[in-house]
Amino acid sequence: MRRVYLDNNATTFIHPEVAAAIAPFLAGLYGNPSSLHWAGRDVRIYYDRARSQIADMMHVHPEEVVVTSCGTESDNHAIKGVAYGNSEKGRHIITTAVEHPGVLNVCKYLEGKGFTVTYLPVDGKGQIEPDDVKKAIRKDTVLISVMYANNETGTVFPIQEIGAIARERGIPFHSDMVQAMGKIDIDMRSLNVDLASFSGHKVYAPKGVGALYIREGLAIDNLIHGGHQEDGRRAGTENVIGIVAFGAACEIVKKEMRSEHNKIESLRKRLLEGILERVDDIRLNGHPTMRLPNTLNISFEYVEAESLLMALDMNGIAVSSGSACSAGSTEPSHVLLAMGIPSEICQSAVRFSLGRENTEEDIDYVLSVIPGAVSRLRAMSPLYRK
Ligand SMILES: *Cc1c(COP(=O)(O)O)cnc(C)c1O
Repeated sequence: MRRVYLDNNATTFIHPEVAAAIAPFLAGLYGNPSSLHWAGRDVRIYYDRARSQIADMMHVHPEEVVVTSCGTESDNHAIKGVAYGNSEKGRHIITTAVEHPGVLNVCKYLEGKGFTVTYLPVDGKGQIEPDDVKKAIRKDTVLISVMYANNETGTVFPIQEIGAIARERGIPFHSDMVQAMGKIDIDMRSLNVDLASFSGHKVYAPKGVGALYIREGLAIDNLIHGGHQEDGRRAGTENVIGIVAFGAACEIVKKEMRSEHNKIESLRKRLLEGILERVDDIRLNGHPTMRLPNTLNISFEYVEAESLLMALDMNGIAVSSGSACSAGSTEPSHVLLAMGIPSEICQSAVRFSLGRENTEEDIDYVLSVIPGAVSRLRAMSPLYRK
């Protein structure tokens, strides 16, 4: 049976060039990059080069990059680090209602520690209004955190505008850029961002590595205390394999993002148009134009997303319902609910997230399976009368 993977916002395969870059570290190169002897020096060269590759991808200085274990750690470090580092200045944080749990649940945790959090609303297209950020700012606001692109709907937020507002008021601005990397251009020189989170496994590197951009001079507490690694900002012996992989992934982004963007966007359009032609009673969730090239979130009315997911899986097609992080729970997605979408429509939402391995044949195969799967499920629904 054909296998088609359309869940790239949950994780990606390891790119062969990334695998080739880390192969020497699985076989021979084992030194601790902080050691002063030959074994450490041999590895340090690769470690430093990888940091430069990561910094180049986002147009910052290598010293402004801290290597972490994942996107979630980067979010935690940014938010707790600024909150605790500035708590005598104030205890108010602004974020949005549609952030990844890596941001949302850190904010919830801080609410239990005496912080107050404003969760900005989104409109029906999942978009936020920069003016709402302005209105939410208080004297005691110490941090604004708004993601660059939403993992569930693919909606892209006006980060630059929000960053300009934050900068004018002197408030640190964090952005979760995990889904933006590799899909849209990230140029920190123009984005007015002070902190940004990244994750390796969303961009064809292995799981277990992430990065946090910390603008030079920004006051922030450490999250993990111990040795002096990462310039004293993140303790623990360096994840050499992880950073080398992430560096290689950044190199691929630099080389191929533009062409990949166009290819993946045209596949997404083929998928959407094909579904629109073949299936009725569907709803496109998310912004029609301000969006990632690869993400399609569609509600198939009168169908439980989980049932459709399983029907597609039986045909070798991997998609997700809601977000993978809440897989197994039948809670409707907090992102779609925040958009004002009725709960039963939320529960029929399926996310297709395309990646660099997908082909036109994949999409045509998916289009050959979906209509039958949807009508079989609708035939069993007591609500569907046609
Ligand atoms: C996947 C994801 C994360 C978490 O990254 P991990 O490396 O899996 O911890 C954070 N934010 C967004 C938007 C994501 O899509």
